[in-house]
Amino acid sequence: MKPIATITRTKAIMERHNLSFKKSLGQNFLIDVNILENIVSKANVDDKSIVIEIGPGIGALTEQLAKQAQHVYAFEIDGRLIEVLEDTLAPYDNVTVINQDILEVDLEAFIEENVQQGQSVQVVANLPYYITTPILMKLLSSHLPIDSITVMMQKEVAARMSADANTKDYGSLSIAVQYYTTSKVVMNVPKTCFIPQPNVDSAILQLTVRREPYIQVENEDLYFEVVQASFGQRRKTLKNNLKRAFEDKLDTERLGRVFNEANIEPSRRGESLTLEEFAKLADAFDRQLA
Ligand code: SAM
Repeated sequence: MKPIATITRTKAIMERHNLSFKKSLGQNFLIDVNILENIVSKANVDDKSIVIEIGPGIGALTEQLAKQAQHVYAFEIDGRLIEVLEDTLAPYDNVTVINQDILEVDLEAFIEENVQQGQSVQVVANLPYYITTPILMKLLSSHLPIDSITVMMQKEVAARMSADANTKDYGSLSIAVQYYTTSKVVMNVPKTCFIPQPNVDSAILQLTVRREPYIQVENEDLYFEVVQASFGQRRKTLKNNLKRAFEDKLDTERLGRVFNEANIEPSRRGESLTLEEFAKLADAFDRQLA
C-alpha cells in the first residue's frame, strides 16, 4: 500500500471517513514522503527511541516514525481522528494514540510512567502552527527528560527561535529557546508539500536539549522577566524599557546601579545583548531587589 503521506491516499482516507480539514486546529497534512523520511533521519530516531509526537493528524509522520522507533506516543486533540488513526496505523503495533490536548498533558508523569531510565526520549512533530510557541515553552521550561525536539513550524518562527544577537529576528523567543537548547534549522519545506496548502512556508527546527541551561542565573523567572521587558518596545533603549517595567520596584538611582554592576551601557538596545549579558543584568537586578 502507498504511504499515508501521498495526495491520493490522503484524499482517499479523508473521503472514506467523511472528514474535512479543521483550519482552527492547524490541520495541514504532509503529502511528501521524502520530507518525512528526512525529518525522521535528521531526528536520529532508531530502534531505541521513544518518540512523542504532537498532532498525528491521519498518521502521515506517525507511520514513518513507527518504522524506525521503538515506540511512538502520539497526542491528538481532534476526537474525529482517533478512529481514523486506528485504521491507518493498524499495521504498526508500536504506536499508542492518545486523544488529549498536548497543553493539558502532565508530561512529567507521562514520561515517568512510560519511559524507563536510560531510554532516549525524542519529540518529533509537524506542529499545529497556532500554538507552536506555547508547546515548545511547555516542553522546555518544565525541564523534562527529553533529548531532542525536531519540529516543523512556520519558517519565520524557526528563524526567530534560532536567531543570533544583533539580527532582526533576535528577541525574547530566541533567548528562551537558546537558554534550554542548541538550535538549528535543518530543512526548509515549501507550502506545496501540504494539503490544504497553508499561506506560509515552513522549516524544520532541530533542538538539542542542554543538560544544564546555557548560563547560570540566580533567578530564572527574573531572568526571563528582564529579557521580556528589554524587548518591550524594540526601538527603545534598555534603560527606558526596564525603567518602565520595574518602576514599582526600583527607583532611577538603583536602576543606574544595576547597569553599573552588570557593566552594561543603559543606552544599548535589547537586541544587542547576548544571553550572557542578560544573565549579568538579571543577576544585578536580583541583588538590587533583594
Ligand atoms: N502530523 C500530521 C502531518 O504531518 O500530516 C498532521 C500535522 S497538522 C500540522 C497538526 C495536527 O495537530 C492536527 O492533526 C491537529 O488536529 C493537531 N492538534 C492541534 N492542536 C493540538 C493540541 N493542542 N494537542 C494535540 N494535537 C493538536
